[in-house]
Amino acid sequence: MDKHRVMILGTGPAGLTAAIYAARANLEPLVVEGAEPGGQLTTTTEVENFPGFPEGVMGPELMENMRQQAERFGAKFLTGLATSAKLDQRPFRVTVDDDEEFEADALIISTGASAKWLGISGEAEMMGRGVSSCATCDGFFFRGKPVIVVGGGDSAMEEATFLTKFATEVTIVHRRDTLRASKVMQDRAKANPKIKWALDTEPVAVEANEKTVTGLRVRDNASGEERVLAADGVFVAIGHRPNTEFLENQLQVDKVGYIVTKEPSSATSVEGVFACGDVMDPVYRQAVTAAGSGCKAALDVEKFLEASVTHDTSAATA
Ligand code: NAP
Repeated sequence: MDKHRVMILGTGPAGLTAAIYAARANLEPLVVEGAEPGGQLTTTTEVENFPGFPEGVMGPELMENMRQQAERFGAKFLTGLATSAKLDQRPFRVTVDDDEEFEADALIISTGASAKWLGISGEAEMMGRGVSSCATCDGFFFRGKPVIVVGGGDSAMEEATFLTKFATEVTIVHRRDTLRASKVMQDRAKANPKIKWALDTEPVAVEANEKTVTGLRVRDNASGEERVLAADGVFVAIGHRPNTEFLENQLQVDKVGYIVTKEPSSATSVEGVFACGDVMDPVYRQAVTAAGSGCKAALDVEKFLEASVTHDTSAATA
């Protein structure tokens, strides 16, 4: 069986930054690319808030650059999905694509989180062309235009409030007549004159011409009637799902499934397993915060492996 000192699962900004640091520390990490190589940034177009790019950078290009940087220092990449892991023994065991097994002395989990989508007609087709799940990433492109936010939780309130900085108006479409969001977030959104409400209203289809989104077809739950709300952008804010199913509760996760780390380190409840990026961060979820946490995870692994060697050597000489 192929054995490595460190395996990194996931290749978003967190995983790739961890790979750069681990490779530069001569740990020759094996990096498993997962279902979405490059992570969520590869589904966006221009990234304008990653430091160091005054003119912005395309998401896929940024991720390709990070990958090449990691490769340059000796990181090895494997295309495949980590489908299961055995964390109750060391070396840890990771199965990729239900088929190949690998061993590693330390693991960095950076499998990210996936935005939940509505699954309605037009949504997937118009992704990146008016449909988005990230107001911080894409809000700027809707300056002077009307947009819609779908959802009734804190994310929807936060995204809608943020979008009022750019959009002419923001309509919140929510499937029930009561919101799930905390009172403080609701109150802030309700006090914003640019925010309009379509409650007890179900999204039915994203309307678009050949190039861009033109609106959202919705159904009024009380009357059953359908209408189209005109908008240039539809932001889906119905929550995220951390990609932790493959771990089958072998380490501590919160009630939604995000990995719990021992702040300020990236250590998880299993010694030798570290987590970084969106898989452990339900709050900030930015490329730059993910990259920062990836750096922390690699430094933590380096320290952990050094301590294990010292421990093994002293045990052998005792
Ligand atoms: P959430 O609390 O789970 O809310 C998701 C919302 O989307 C709910 O209103 C839900 O409707 C709706 N929804 C889910 N599936 C849907 C579907 N298929 N069709 C239409 N609507 C759908 O998720 P979240 O807002 O992302 O928040 C996640 C966690 O992060 C929460 O604990 C939240 O407090 C926290 N958070 C905090 C902040 C902050 O404090 N600044 C900001 C963002 C998030 P129902 O209500 O009908 O279920």
